[in-house]
Parts: sequence; structure tokens; C-alpha cells
Amino acid sequence: MKKREWILRFAPSPTGYLHVGGARTAIFNELLKYKYNGKLILRIEDTDLARSDKKLSENIMQALEWLGVEWDQGPFFQSERINLYKTKAYQLVEKGLAYRCFCTKEELEKEREKAHKESKSFRYSGRCSSLSQEEIDDLLNSGKSYVIRFKMPNKEFVFNDLIRGEVVFPKDSFDDFVLMRSDYTPTYHLSVVVDDIEMGVTHVIRGEDHISNTPKHIELFRAFGMEPPRFGHLPLILDVDRKRLSKRSGAVSVEEFRDRGVLPEALYNYLVLLGWSSGDDREFFSKEELKKEFSVERIHSSPAIFDVKKLEWMNAKYLSIISVDRAVEAVKPFLKFNLEEVDITYFKKVIELHKTRARNLIDLADVVKPYILTVDFNYDLSEAKKVLKKHDYVNYLQILLDRYSKIESFSVQAVEAELRALASELGVKAGVLIHPLRYAISARRVGPPLFDMVHLLGKKKTLYYLAKFISFAREKVFC
Ligand code: GLU
Repeated sequence: MKKREWILRFAPSPTGYLHVGGARTAIFNELLKYKYNGKLILRIEDTDLARSDKKLSENIMQALEWLGVEWDQGPFFQSERINLYKTKAYQLVEKGLAYRCFCTKEELEKEREKAHKESKSFRYSGRCSSLSQEEIDDLLNSGKSYVIRFKMPNKEFVFNDLIRGEVVFPKDSFDDFVLMRSDYTPTYHLSVVVDDIEMGVTHVIRGEDHISNTPKHIELFRAFGMEPPRFGHLPLILDVDRKRLSKRSGAVSVEEFRDRGVLPEALYNYLVLLGWSSGDDREFFSKEELKKEFSVERIHSSPAIFDVKKLEWMNAKYLSIISVDRAVEAVKPFLKFNLEEVDITYFKKVIELHKTRARNLIDLADVVKPYILTVDFNYDLSEAKKVLKKHDYVNYLQILLDRYSKIESFSVQAVEAELRALASELGVKAGVLIHPLRYAISARRVGPPLFDMVHLLGKKKTLYYLAKFISFAREKVFC
């Protein structure tokens, strides 16, 4: 028998940015769609009209696109479907599966206080479910506002989660919850179930924070005469202190990581590991590999730890393994000059030399700048002292500058040979010249092979930076 294809959805609420937890949910749904030959629907849950605006939804979509998450249908906006939810709520009232609740806020507050005093958790009494038709009509005629509540059976609920196995909620866990508010807008429970039905969703893969909603949703599916989809709840994401990942933990949005120079492929790969593993110790996966290897069976149920340091490490590794062309494309938004005005063959060589050592795209954009623009380095006094231990060394650098100004070819071999010859003439180790030269041309003490850098930088710029550093040393280091 042919396996039924999985219809999945990613359903973010537009809160202004795409949280990495949401991004992980989107990624897992995307990968499951490939694995199970299915479809991914993007649905924007923007029924909270006061908090949602289109700009926020666009941010989320841009972040998903940047991350490389591909969906097949949508975006569908729940805010455009409010009437549908309303109709569906009344359908349940007609079937006797939901009812109008006229209880006022004050009445409910009293009930809540009473429960609190008795150290019980508050559950709505269900009082309005037993109103007679006559009483209802009177209340309606008097213009009293109401909400629609769902008649939630009071029993033990058991469902089989795709990730966590059997999940049990004891009797008394739920009350008759609200489907439609007094302003006729749907609650999340109603809109999510109506849409999952309308869109033919077969598998709901979402964060663990929704697990206690699932019995409500299952009952709602049944009330609408539908078999519920399969549910799978992804593990929580904690920070390194094992606290729930929140803004307090540092950056939590995809957009922030993008702006900090993280490559989308690195973030994607890192997020895949938050709750999934291949079963061996591999950590680097291309999207093509993931499309084949990802499976629901290997999603864990224990919390995942979001470790920014590990992401940064992975990002640096990614920078070293991606192609030069890809690195050029990725670094472009961070450059301080117009790439169109630069000799691209030359620029690629510069990127090739530096990308294996850059920490992120901001760092890469920074180290390549002196090759293209004439940079006014702000040399650091204490760093300079580390590379220039003695006053004489400044004079040696001056000699190096004079020699370099005289050589014809600025090839890697020529600049290296010249420096080494000078060091031996002076009777010092080559490092005496190498370290300050590196610092002079890059304002950094570490980097790629020095003579490759000097060669690529070229004679004019090398001499310029050397002269600049020598005068800095004379003025500030040995004054
Ligand atoms: N809109 C919900 C959220 O952003 C997700 C709803 C669901 O997946 O059922 O948390």
C-alpha cells in the first residue's frame, strides 16, 4: 500500500522576529516533508489583531527564506479568515458541542479566587452549559455579550505522540475552554483546528510548549467529525544554564544571528542538531544529506541546549568549507565598499586566503577591507608592544620598508626571501620582522600565511601600512 504523504505546516505567530525555536520547528517540518514525500504549508497565525501587522509577518518570511526553508503552500493569513472561524464556532453550538457563556469577568474572577483559596487550580464550572433556551434568548435579547465555550469532556486523555510516545493527562486537567471571544474573534484553539482541517494537515509537528493544547485540539477535531492528525512535540530548547531560552540568554532570533555574520547554512545545520542526531557522531550535514537522513524516529524528547559558542564554532568551520563564490555572496552585505567596483578575480583571491580563519562574516568583511580600501588602522598600544619588543626592531622595520620599496617583483617568494635575508644580515630571528609586519598590515597578530597576505596586498599598500606603523611605533611605543 502506498504510504500516505505527510501534509505539514509551520504556523508562526508574528511577534516581530523569528525565534530560533520557531526556526527549528520550521526546519524539522521542512525536512519531514522531504522525508515523507509531503508538503509544507506556511500559515501565519495573526488573529491577535492588536499585536500583528503585515510587516512582522514579512520579517518572519524573510528570515525563513534567508535560512533556506522552503514551503509549498501559503502564506495563509488567519486574520483574513476570521469569518470562517466564527461560522465554525456557531456550528458547534448548533450541534450542542459548544455553548454561549455569559459569565462576566467579575463572576469568573470570583470563581478563580475561590479556587485559589481552596488551593485548587481554576477550572470553569460549566455553569452556562445548562442554561435553558429561554434563558439564553432572554440574555441575548438583553444584549448581554458572551463567549463560546467548547464542552470539553472531563476524562483522562491519552494520545500517542510521534516523539514522546504515550502522553497522558489525568481527569480534571481541562475545563470548557473558550473558542470565540466576545468580540467574535477566535481563540488560538479554534483557528488552529479549523485550519488544520481545511488545509488537510496530517502531521502536526510543533514545540513542546503546545503539548497541553493537544487534547483540546484532538477533541475539537472529533467535534468537527474529523480524525485528528498525528502529533509530535519537539523538545524544549534551553540555554547553557539550562534555563528556558529567552532574550535574557542573549540573541534568540534568526535575524540577530544573520546580522552578526552567521551563515544561513551554519545556523540551519546547528538548529537541526537541537533535538535530532544521525545516530553517529557526525555534526556537519548538507541539506541534501539531511533530506535523505532526517527522520522522525531520531528526534529526541529530552531538552536541547542552545550553545552560542558551538554555533559560532560551527559557523567558522562552515566559512572554511564553503566555496569562494558562496563566501563572496555571503559576505557582500557586510562589505564597506561596493563590490561592483572591485576586480572580482582579485577579491576572490583575498577571500580565499582569509575565509578559513574568519570567525564570521563581519570578521571576514573586516579583514578583507585593507586590500580594497586604504584603511586608517587604529593600532593598539599594548598589541604593538607585543610585536615590537625592542626599540631597534622599529629601525629594522624601517630597513625592511626600504628593501621592499626597491624590489621589482612582489611575489610570495620574493617578499619572503627579502625578509629572511634581512633577518639573517641583522642577526635576528625572522619573527622579529614577521610579527610586526603582520601587525602593521592587518592590525592583527594572527592570520593566514603572512607572505601570501603581503603579496596579495601588493607593494603600494604594504609600504603604506608599514610606514604608518613605523611612525605609530616611534610616536607612541618608544617615545
Ligand atoms: N502559532 C503557534 C505558535 O507560534 C503555533 C501553533 C501550532 O503549531 O499549533 O506558537
